[in-house]
Amino acid sequence: MNSLRRRVRRLEAIVFPYQKPRVRTEQDIRYDELAVNLLNRIDPVYADAIRIDCQRLAAAKEAGKGRLPMSNLNFGFGCTVRDHMISGTPLEFPGVVAEAYASHPNTSLIPLVQCKTCTYSFPWGILNQPFERCPLCGGDVVGKSH
Ligand SMILES: [Zn+2]
Repeated sequence: MNSLRRRVRRLEAIVFPYQKPRVRTEQDIRYDELAVNLLNRIDPVYADAIRIDCQRLAAAKEAGKGRLPMSNLNFGFGCTVRDHMISGTPLEFPGVVAEAYASHPNTSLIPLVQCKTCTYSFPWGILNQPFERCPLCGGDVVGKSH
């Protein structure tokens, strides 16, 4: 009887996955405010691409397809907002940094570098061309693990 009950529970978990509604924290709200602020200030081409990717991910989740991988551009944008929240790095996403994220092959990790002066983190380079200086302040660049 217990084994049957366990089987039913396992099947129920597969057929009716119960997802506890996620409670939005103050950090979530702060993240959204910062993301909207930044999204409204960046090149509209990249802003639109990020919005489209968010809609694609939301639609897949709604359709029960689970979590799809986000685009590299969207990932980089999110990392920039997160870094700002955690470390106080500049809340900026210049076109050259957006392009560096977007042009990176989707299947691999993006090696990041950091500015010694303003601590901004960004991809090591764009299309095999490394960044020699920080795109924000022109400071020296140091390697950073992903
Ligand atoms: Zn800098």
